[in-house]
Amino acid sequence: MLKVAYSKNYAFSLPEGHRFPMEKYDLLPEQLVYEGTLSRENFFQPESPEMHWIHRTHDKNYILKLQNEELSRSEIRKIGFPLSRKLVEREMEIMGGSVKASLYAMEYGVAMNIAGGTHHAFSDRGEGFCLLNDIAISANYLIDNHLVNQVLVVDLDVHQGNGTAALFQNCSEVFTFSMHGAANYPLHKEHSDLDVPLPDGIGDQAYLELLEENLYAVVGQIRPDFIIFQSGVDVLKSDKLGRLGLSIQGCKERDRMVFNMANSGNIPVMCCMGGGYSAKISEIIEAHANTYRLAQDIFF
Ligand SMILES: [Zn+2]
Repeated sequence: MLKVAYSKNYAFSLPEGHRFPMEKYDLLPEQLVYEGTLSRENFFQPESPEMHWIHRTHDKNYILKLQNEELSRSEIRKIGFPLSRKLVEREMEIMGGSVKASLYAMEYGVAMNIAGGTHHAFSDRGEGFCLLNDIAISANYLIDNHLVNQVLVVDLDVHQGNGTAALFQNCSEVFTFSMHGAANYPLHKEHSDLDVPLPDGIGDQAYLELLEENLYAVVGQIRPDFIIFQSGVDVLKSDKLGRLGLSIQGCKERDRMVFNMANSGNIPVMCCMGGGYSAKISEIIEAHANTYRLAQDIFF
């Protein structure tokens, strides 16, 4: 059974004029149920993880400032969302969704979170629509509970997973692999264990060749027993923020490559959503929906 974390709090209401496509957190599950890819029983309601799991990854002072809504104006501006108690609660649910989905992935081979992939959050600060880092919290949870020995983060969002890279800079149990637009945000990149910066406008074929080469090399080298896949769809040519040139089909082949590799190697994979900012919301939903369709086809 494909288990999927979803909460109605994921689609957070933003002030008028804010251009972030919040609607996708409701439209995507609606589409997946409507077309029959998922039914209601696939979804589970995420809950906040116990605070000590958050503190394992994030600075206590920063968490306190978040909870008391005491971040400075510039800290809030970097995050890009207006800070409120509800926003912090939403973020906590997203964290819990990824942790629980990771446990379901151990059971079923794959599990997913309708939100998450908040890879720009550092230990003591957030940026780029990310307050806390669900990838890092989930990886630390699995390692600390001795559920896995070696995690591989496959971050294929168009933006570098800078927060995740920094959080695991000195951790041999988590290998961070990020393939991203070289000219995309963040301007200052961190050092992942493996970075593959891509030129503007790169198309399906060149992208998929690079992914295949690097993904198989890394899996052969580190032999992960768990994969966290950040499947952002801002790699699409139609994306307003991304500078790459993938088609919707190319993006689907990307996901197929990751899932096939995980499935054939019996490596559980937790998939979190990441970005997607195409002008047409239907393209964002279609590209994200493909990830779920493939998970059903390949694993079940
Ligand atoms: Zn992104």
